[in-house]
Amino acid sequence: MTDHDTSRAGALLTIDVGAICDNWRSLQAAVGAAQCAAVVKADAYGLGATRVAPALAAAGCRTFFVAHLDEALALKPALPAHAAVLVLHGPTPGTEAEFESRGIVPVLNSAAQIAGWRALARRLDRELPAFVQVDSGMARLGLSPAELQAVAADAPSLAGIRVAGVMSHLACAEDQANPANREQLQRFRAARRLLPAAPASFANSSAIFLGDDYHFDLVRPGAALYGIAPVAGASNPLRPVVRLQGKVMQTRDIEPGTPVGYGHSWRCGQPTRIATVSVGYADGWLRALSNRGAAWFNGTLLPLVGKVSMDTITLDASAVPAGALQPGALVDLINEQQDVDTVAAQAGTIGYEVLTSLGQRYARRYVGEPGTA
Ligand SMILES: *Cc1c(COP(=O)(O)O)cnc(C)c1O
Repeated sequence: MTDHDTSRAGALLTIDVGAICDNWRSLQAAVGAAQCAAVVKADAYGLGATRVAPALAAAGCRTFFVAHLDEALALKPALPAHAAVLVLHGPTPGTEAEFESRGIVPVLNSAAQIAGWRALARRLDRELPAFVQVDSGMARLGLSPAELQAVAADAPSLAGIRVAGVMSHLACAEDQANPANREQLQRFRAARRLLPAAPASFANSSAIFLGDDYHFDLVRPGAALYGIAPVAGASNPLRPVVRLQGKVMQTRDIEPGTPVGYGHSWRCGQPTRIATVSVGYADGWLRALSNRGAAWFNGTLLPLVGKVSMDTITLDASAVPAGALQPGALVDLINEQQDVDTVAAQAGTIGYEVLTSLGQRYARRYVGEPGTA
C-alpha cells in the first residue's frame, strides 16, 4: 500500500527519501574522488526501490546495484537512461540476452557466468560490458582463487567482455578491528593485477569507514543510505530514514495475575493497562520481540508484553494516563528514540533484517522526494 488513506491500514510507515539522499551525499563526500553507487536490492531494503532510486539519481547517483535480473527490470524504467543498473548475482543460464537487450550490466561471479557472457558477445559480434567479482575471503560469490588463476592464464576466456569493473565484498567490515579486513584488501589488490585494468569496487557501507584504502573507484553502500549504523559500537553519522507508527485498536485494564497473549507468556504483577496495536510479525515486527520490544507514545516507553501475534502486539500502557490512548492513536515503533538498530538488537538480529522484513500492509508515506516541498 503506497500513499493511500492511512485509516485503512493498521500502521503507518514514513520513509524520508530526503534523508536517504542526504546520506548518499555524505557518503559521496566521505569517499572524495571515488564514485558512490547505491545498493537498492530487495526493494531498497524494503523501502521501495522505484521511489528511492529515482530520487538518488536526481541527487547525482549514477550506478545502482540489485541482486536479481527481475529487480533490475523493474528498476530500469524508473531511472534516467544514463544510470547504470548492475545485477550482483549475474545471469542465470539463458538470461544473458535479456541483460543485453535491456541494457543491464551483469556482475560475473564464476567461470560459467563468464563463459555465458562471452558466448553472447561472440554471437552478437561485439564487446559487452560486465563487472567481474572475485572472492577475496568470504566464500560466497565471485571467482575463487583457482578460477581466477585459470582466467588469468587463459586470456581468450574474457574475449568480447569489456571488464567495466572488478569487485569483491568484505565479510567483517562493520568490525573495524578485525584483521580479516586487511587480509581481504591484500587479496583484492592481488586479484586486480591478474585481471584487465578496470575500475575497482570493494566497499559496502561499513567499509567506507575503514578508510581511503578501501574506497578504490566505486563504493557500494546500501545499509547506510537507509539509516543503519555502519560501524558496530560507534555512533551513527547518518540521518534516520524510517518512522514506523502502529495504531492502537483497544485498551483494557487488567487485574494482577491476568495472562496476556498466546501461550500466556506474560502475566501482570499489578493492575495494568494493556494497549493492543495492529502490527504483528506478518508486518515484520519480529516474533523474537515477544516480551522484549517496546513502543513509544509521546516520549513514554510502553514495554511490549506477551507474544507478538501475526497481526497484533500488546503493550503495557500503564504509564500513560487513562484515556490518553484512544483507538486510532499512533504509537512509535521505530523513531529517533528507538532506531532500527535498537529494534534489531532487541530481536537478536541486524537492522538489515528489520528493514527488509517490513511488510506490505503499511500505509506508506514518502517525504522529502525531489520536487516536493
Ligand atoms: C548488499 C551488498 C552491498 C551493500 O552492503 P551494505 O552493507 O548494505 O552497505 C554491497 N555489495 C554487495 C556485493 C552486496 O551484496
